[in-house]
Amino acid sequence: MSWVDSHCHLDHKAFADDLTHVLQQAMQAGIDKFIVPGTAFHAWEQQQALEQKYPNIYLAYGIHPWFCDLHTEEHLQQLDDLLNHAVAVGECGLDLSPNKPDIKTQIYWFEAQLDLADKHALPVIIHSVQAHHVVVDLLAKHPGLHGVVHGFTGNIQQAQAFIERGFHIGIGTRLIKAASDKTKSLLTKLPLEHILLETDAPDGLGKDARNEPKELIVVANIVAKLGGHNTEDVLHLCSQHAKDLLKL
Ligand SMILES: [Zn+2]
Repeated sequence: MSWVDSHCHLDHKAFADDLTHVLQQAMQAGIDKFIVPGTAFHAWEQQQALEQKYPNIYLAYGIHPWFCDLHTEEHLQQLDDLLNHAVAVGECGLDLSPNKPDIKTQIYWFEAQLDLADKHALPVIIHSVQAHHVVVDLLAKHPGLHGVVHGFTGNIQQAQAFIERGFHIGIGTRLIKAASDKTKSLLTKLPLEHILLETDAPDGLGKDARNEPKELIVVANIVAKLGGHNTEDVLHLCSQHAKDLLKL
């Protein structure tokens, strides 16, 4: 067993006191590789510290759309340097839900990071909320790129548009909470070969509960049940997709 949580924020303060224990529990469940994406410049150093302490933590560096307006050109230069030692660019993307930085600013930072992904030949971890069509249009300008649209909650047509651009679909614990008809219908139609599994820990379970990488097994169970697969197969195949994509 060597499963991959393709998206977990282990640098989050929610794990400050007991990360070693959290990782042990995940490893007992068979999850032994953890992809920690970046969100903003002030977290990059903490990410590096984790990578030095835990050999099975792999880093992506990026600027999350929620925080893009806190950044300057100097941060972009810093990001360019950090990407020499990363498995992916991200998370980056667009979020057009209310109370986020304005769309022009978000697009500027997203495109700057797509350029860096081209330059470093790295996959991209994308955050896309209420913005799928704009993201797909921007990706069309970068035909060589691949990656994953993480925490996906769109429909099968939107998923197909990303798959045609060379992207995987990241399926996570939002399913446990929502299990909406839309997600159910997506998972009955989405072939396993396009799916990456993630928890998005500590987020993903709602306000009061801390999510953890060990919950990846629950995600795999739901994907298996809805798609008519065996849970072990889901864990094995989707982890293999992550290892291939991120060259783990
Ligand atoms: Zn995230």
